[in-house]
Formats: sequence, structure tokens, C-alpha cells
Amino acid sequence: MKVARYYSSNPSDPDVYHDHDDCPTGKQIPWYNKQSGDNGYRHCKDCEELD
Ligand SMILES: [Zn+2]
Repeated sequence: MKVARYYSSNPSDPDVYHDHDDCPTGKQIPWYNKQSGDNGYRHCKDCEELD
């Protein structure tokens, strides 16, 4: 389902933001790396397909 924008603060992760909680990439972000907002990043490709 669609959620508020979030992204990973881990520098080794791709510079994208997510807006689906069932995104396979977004689901792998641990809670301590999960930040709210988009940080000026591009939209995640997997999330785009879920739209
Ligand atoms: Zn995503």
C-alpha cells in the first residue's frame, strides 16, 4: 500500500525514495536507516511499478 515518502540513510543504498510499504527494496531498509521524506532523491523504480 502507498505510504508517506521514505528513504534509506545508508550511503551504500541507491539514492532513491520509496512510497510503498510493500516495495521489495524499501522493505529491506532496517528501521534505524529509514528516514521520512525524499531527501531530493529520485522515485524508486519498484515503487513506480507498484503505482
Ligand atoms: Zn521502492
